[in-house]
Formats: sequence, C-alpha cells, structure tokens
Amino acid sequence: MDLYVGITEADEHEEEADLPKDEAGRRKIKRQYEELLGIRIEKLKGRILNRERINKTIEGIYFICDKCLKVCHSLDDGIVEDPANLHNLCGKCGKSRSAA
Ligand SMILES: [Zn+2]
Repeated sequence: MDLYVGITEADEHEEEADLPKDEAGRRKIKRQYEELLGIRIEKLKGRILNRERINKTIEGIYFICDKCLKVCHSLDDGIVEDPANLHNLCGKCGKSRSAA
C-alpha cells in the first residue's frame, strides 16, 4: 500500500498536466501558452485553449481574449463566453464592449 501512495505523489509532481492550484501557477501556464503560440495567437484569438476542472463545481478555462489577444484564465481574468466559441472575451474587454 505504501508503494501506491508513493507512486501517486510522484506522478502529481511530474505530470505536466497537473493542475495549478493558484494564480501564480496559472500565470506561468498562461505565459507558456503565449510563448508556445507566438504569432498564432492572432489566429486563435477568441478561442478556448483548454478547460480544466478545478473542483466539482468550478471549471477553469484558458482562452485567448478576442480583443486584447491576451491568454486569460476565467478565474483570474474573467470570461465572457461566446455561444459560438469564436469570440470569447476577458472580463475587462467584455465590459468595455458595450461602451465601445
Ligand atoms: Zn481582453
């Protein structure tokens, strides 16, 4: 039994898909996305990059804001979801959209 516990712990630390549990962790992932995507961010704007389940009720979404082209996370930056999933906006841009 001890062996199983050991393996599980090791996996959690090594897995790249390990969910970051705080804002600092997500910020790192956002930066990785930005570096990874580079100029393609332009093409992928407004799209969802990844959905993760944070717990039973909360879902976290990584996406590129259609307006400011930043990689955002729904919990940190807010999200205004587009039903068609093509023009998702961060909270800030979603608010300013009606004013613009
Ligand atoms: Zn934005």
